[in-house]
Amino acid sequence: MRDRYVRRLISTLKCSVCGRRYEPSKVKLLGSQEDVWFLSVFCETCRTTGLIAAVVKEAGDLQQVTELTGPEVVKFKSLPPVSGDDVLDMHVKLRDFTGDVTLLLGSK
Ligand SMILES: [Zn+2]
Repeated sequence: MRDRYVRRLISTLKCSVCGRRYEPSKVKLLGSQEDVWFLSVFCETCRTTGLIAAVVKEAGDLQQVTELTGPEVVKFKSLPPVSGDDVLDMHVKLRDFTGDVTLLLGSK
């Protein structure tokens, strides 16, 4: 049940390359460690693959959804927790964002 919830949650995200939403069937669960879920996504429109790390608390609240590479996951794991404001800022930013990942990561 939790798998399906996380998969559905991720399918509400948009591809960072072309902006289309991910098909739930193209979201693949790679595994989880404590509250961190690792997923791969495949965009059928532009045929790119992305890696997502999502922090999902027991109550099912999504704290953070972001696209990270493996090394970035390791790097960010040692940083302070993401606040609700951070998540809201990112949500607003991603909702209207139409550029590529390089621009996204370099723009803050
Ligand atoms: Zn795409």
